[in-house]
Amino acid sequence: MKVKRWRQGIWSCPECYFYWYWKMDRDSKFFDRKCPFCHNRVRSVMERQPGNRGRPREFFLETRPSHMPRAALTRELKNRNEVIKRKKDQEAEYIQMGLETWGWDENE
Ligand SMILES: [Zn+2]
Repeated sequence: MKVKRWRQGIWSCPECYFYWYWKMDRDSKFFDRKCPFCHNRVRSVMERQPGNRGRPREFFLETRPSHMPRAALTRELKNRNEVIKRKKDQEAEYIQMGLETWGWDENE
């Protein structure tokens, strides 16, 4: 059986909560990525766990089987990010509403 030399998965930026794809060498211990959205740099040490799962504690990171097609992962990321984006839009609306109320009160 041929063993794949790399691992892949998804991670989430602790700043903006968007999800991204990662792929790295199987033996690589250090996770070092920059969020494409907010440019926050995320670094961590992958912990070896039974079942070959690396899991840094500080932020969301999950390993997916390396035979999983990239397209499937891209779909999953897209779905997750759409949920995040909806939440963000909602929050932005609330903040906007809050500011407007505040401004209105101040003019009273
Ligand atoms: Zn980010």
